Amino acid sequence: MNVLIVEDEARIAAFVERGLKAEGFGVQIAPDGETGYALACNEDIDLVVLDLMLPGLSGEEVLARLRQRRPDVPVIILTARDAVEDRVRNLNNGADDYVTKPFSFVELLARIHARLRARDQVSATELTAGGVTLDLRTRTARIEGHEVSLTAREFALLENFMRHPNQVLSQVQLMDRVWGYDFDPGSNVVEVYVGYLRRKLRKDLIETVRGAGYRLRTS
Ligand code: CA
Repeated sequence: MNVLIVEDEARIAAFVERGLKAEGFGVQIAPDGETGYALACNEDIDLVVLDLMLPGLSGEEVLARLRQRRPDVPVIILTARDAVEDRVRNLNNGADDYVTKPFSFVELLARIHARLRARDQVSATELTAGGVTLDLRTRTARIEGHEVSLTAREFALLENFMRHPNQVLSQVQLMDRVWGYDFDPGSNVVEVYVGYLRRKLRKDLIETVRGAGYRLRTS
């Protein structure tokens, strides 16, 4: 994963670079807007961390031009400008996230990971785990060559399991992700829907982990 840091303050650029390299990222640095824009157009760059106040082209201009060339590359604004209007304007103009200085590296890192995850989820069209294939475009599931019809909730629940194979997901996590705010915390709706998935797909596909939650087994 390659991150481009567009930042004129060498000290900040070096700080972020050091942290990202330690996390295994490839890092490029651009000290001004023109260089930043030119490098960001390169398809090898997976994410851009963009300062707003830059010599030459401003960060806002870089963002506007970049959105014409690469509408999907994640851009996180990193700036000392913390006014709500700046934040809203840049998010409206296509920034994916906004971090204000002074900032903690762990927060920036968490946001970088979140943006990259979101991008991967959008670009994947098919998930496969535990012998089940889920087509995210047609919203259909297949098991052993048979197509299985699922309701919207069943599909969303299964998708969550398939994105985290073998990982235990708690009832609260699943409710939060699949039912959103629209649930009663005392409800057994997750259990009921896990039952539907087992019946429609395979009995041992989703395992109950007593006191912890459920997990999709791949072996
Ligand atoms: Ca600056």
